[in-house]
This record gives sequence, structure tokens and C-alpha cells, in this order.
Amino acid sequence: MAQPFQRRDLSRRGLLAGSLAGATALALGSASPSQPSNPTDATMTQADPFQLPPLPYADTALEPHISAKTLSFHYGKHHNAYLTNLNNLVKGSDLAGLKLEELILKVAKDESKKGVFNNAAQVWNHTFYWNSMRAKGGGKPSGKLAGLIDSSFGSFDAFKEQFKKAATGQFGSGWAWLVVDGAKLAIVTTGNAELPLTSGKRALLTCDVWEHAYYLDFQNRRPDYVTAFLDSLVNWDFAAQNLG
Ligand code: MN
Repeated sequence: MAQPFQRRDLSRRGLLAGSLAGATALALGSASPSQPSNPTDATMTQADPFQLPPLPYADTALEPHISAKTLSFHYGKHHNAYLTNLNNLVKGSDLAGLKLEELILKVAKDESKKGVFNNAAQVWNHTFYWNSMRAKGGGKPSGKLAGLIDSSFGSFDAFKEQFKKAATGQFGSGWAWLVVDGAKLAIVTTGNAELPLTSGKRALLTCDVWEHAYYLDFQNRRPDYVTAFLDSLVNWDFAAQNLG
């Protein structure tokens, strides 16, 4: 079982060292045999500036809601492709030395770097999304987070309704987020690769609403996917950890 995801770990090194085993592997300069298999092994080298972090659970962990087929394609093909594209775009440039979040902020306003931004943001977004879910997730948050949800949305049920409406209503590809917005929490959606980081908002959790996230399991029924996300998958411990 991987260590809980740390928001601060969304850096160049953190992405590689997503667990203690990963950190050890980094120090030794070789992959530990206990590490989950990494689809980049065959195509990437240590020279690649960014690495794909291991999934925080087995690819069957989210069944029956999200199938192993969806998860293995989504992580192994989609997430991995963004990572490969990013490495190809930045290798040998000064961007290659930055932490992922620094890189995203640096290129976000630069139209000539749109491709770098899209791939870097999608790498960040997907890592954040995997950690926004867990096996036997769902339920209700507790403590400070529960209190903030009540004061920001009226009640937990009202939050769920608003999140569902936002995620379902995002036209085309994008993401639904729970974010910190000043003294309150808010729900925002972003299109394509956009993320709250670029508008200075701290994300607590996200739901990927690109069709590739749910089409094999739910076809066009995005509302059912979002309901499953909220009722059975969402990782409130991760959101609480991000709240700090
Ligand atoms: Mn996706």
C-alpha cells in the first residue's frame, strides 16, 4: 500500500518518490523490486526530467465502479502519454529543472508554451485525481473539513448536489474540484487541462470528467459516474490532508 499522497509531493522528485519505497529507490538509483510495475520502464530513462508516480492502489481497487480496464488504460495510456509528451517537450530546456508546480505556473500565461502547459497540468491533475479516490471510499468527511463543508454549502447533502451539478454541467472535457476559496470552500470546474493552481486556489480533491475517465463503465451516463465518485470512491482523508 503506497503512503498517502502528499500535496507537496507533486514535484519532480516527489512524483518519483511517492512512497518510502520510491524514495529508497531514488536514493539507490534503481527501482526496488517491491515497486508496482511502471509502464514507463521500457520507454523512459533516468534522464527524463519527470517520472510517473505509481498508482496509489491496485488497478482493481475501484471496482465495480471504475473497472480495472478503465483504470489501466487511464493510468497506463492517458496519464503516461501526458508524461511522455511533457518529457519530450522540456528535455534539455531550462524547464526540465523545475518542480512540476513551478513549471505549470511558469508556462500558464505563455501561449507559445500551451503544449507544455497542457501536458504538465494533465500530469498533475491525474496524480491528484488518483489520490482523490480510494478503495471503499465515499462516506462523509469529519472534523474541520466537515465543518467547512457545512458552513460553505449549507450541508453535506447540499455539497453533494452542487458538486454533482457542476461536474455534470461541465461542457466537454474537464475537471470538477473542491477548493479552498478564502475562508470558505468552493466547487469549481475547469476545461481541458486547466487547474485551480493557476488562479491561486488550493485544490482539496478532483473528479476527472473527460469521457475517457468513465466511458467504458458508464458510457454517456456522466451523472452516474459522478454519483459513484461521491458515494463510493472519494477519499475524504486526502481532502482533509490537503486542507491541513
Ligand atoms: Mn483523464
